[in-house]
Amino acid sequence: MIQGGERGLRRPVLITILAVVTLFAGTACGGGKTGGTASGPPDAAQNVAGLPVTHFQSGFKANAPTPDVTVKNVTTGDDDKLATAAIVDVEKYWSTQLPANFGGQQFEPVKSLLSYDSNGAAQQSGCGSTKKVVNAYYCSTDDSVNWDRGVLLPQLRQQFGPVSVVTVLAHEFGHAIQARLGPQANMTKQTPTIVKEQQADCFAGNYFRYLAEDKSQYFQVSTDEGLSQVLAAMFSIRDPAGFNNTDVQAHGTAFDRVFAFQTGFEKTPKECAAMNQQNVQARIVEQPFAKGDQLHGQGTAKFNETAVADLQKSLDQAFTGVGAKAPQITAKDGTCPGGKSTPPATYCADTNTVSIDMAALTRLAQPVSDDGKSAGGFGDFAAFSEIASRYVIGVEKTADASVDNANAGLRTACLVGAWAKATNVVGQHLRLSPGDLDEAMTDLLQPNSLVAADANGVRPVSGFDRVAALRNGYLQGSPVCSTTYA
Ligand SMILES: [Zn+2]
Repeated sequence: MIQGGERGLRRPVLITILAVVTLFAGTACGGGKTGGTASGPPDAAQNVAGLPVTHFQSGFKANAPTPDVTVKNVTTGDDDKLATAAIVDVEKYWSTQLPANFGGQQFEPVKSLLSYDSNGAAQQSGCGSTKKVVNAYYCSTDDSVNWDRGVLLPQLRQQFGPVSVVTVLAHEFGHAIQARLGPQANMTKQTPTIVKEQQADCFAGNYFRYLAEDKSQYFQVSTDEGLSQVLAAMFSIRDPAGFNNTDVQAHGTAFDRVFAFQTGFEKTPKECAAMNQQNVQARIVEQPFAKGDQLHGQGTAKFNETAVADLQKSLDQAFTGVGAKAPQITAKDGTCPGGKSTPPATYCADTNTVSIDMAALTRLAQPVSDDGKSAGGFGDFAAFSEIASRYVIGVEKTADASVDNANAGLRTACLVGAWAKATNVVGQHLRLSPGDLDEAMTDLLQPNSLVAADANGVRPVSGFDRVAALRNGYLQGSPVCSTTYA
């Protein structure tokens, strides 16, 4: 984040204030605490995008058939087995979905498949030599899918499990679908890379729905751990913070990539094909650092008492219209003497304070290094959003909304997202900077994150849903938080 106080520009965020007022006015009119829960909360927290929450090992099914397809230079190794089966299964999926969604268009398999070792002997695809190409890619010149079994696939599989390999190939195959759809998917020579990449992530999401619905002969994916592995893998292949979305290499931030994947998971291939330059650029969060951000440590605010004071002002400003007395953030030990504690930050109802453990949150605020290693932290915004979530619990409680169930956890994450959006204005006490949303989402996927936790620190099991809740609040604003997670 950028500490705006240093920039000397301040402006109130009226739109968000009104939106937040609407949220809580609505909750109260609906009968407050009892109205929200007596009729039974919608089951947003009991499922994953409409599917039951499932837990099992994701990857090959025990009785998966042996794929019958020719792959050049293939080995009998695990990664080639995974990649080959992924292609065959993805083709099977699209052989019915392409005609079903696009006016009976007949599906054509890709013309060739190539496995290579980026450290081994160079192979030739239609796009050139594979030497040192640590990648998986669709090549339109010869309509081929190519993958590096030497470095990329084993790295992904070891770090995130076998479904991460399937994710990458489903994405690459998404580019083959684009090539087949052409103008039906808004594809022209001028289409920016980011649009193609967003669509490919979305098409991968379509296919993963089919896996999660247990319709594949080859793979099984649990909606809890399995989809979380997919998201974690997507996080690992995001663009670095501050990347420009108009760059020819742009693939999007983790936030953008997950948005596209979840859109595909929740909606139809038609919805993915409808992505175009206009609607993608209107919502993409990937943006370069602003001039002068270097002076502020590339968007990394120092986590200290001044920053916490700025956070207090930022939250007070965003939630000022709620009518509730603002919770006070106090540096203590992150616990409450009376009531359930959720360190490193706890909302204490009896004193209307958010007790925070500065030392623990300072650790959490440490950035992840460029090579993806964490010294216990996920960046300044991870710490800020954990505190913000406890503040939001206070606001919800004072406004008589439920604070002790799974929907409350998701609503909290949603409101943290709405607050994050409100801070994305020059002149705020704390201003959102490139990379912040990815920090919040990385934090959200941790098993002990507070961002989507209810007042008791209990969080919905599904990382997929926790991430979706934050995203919904950010992109649609606070009203959607009360309607979706009533
Ligand atoms: Zn791509």
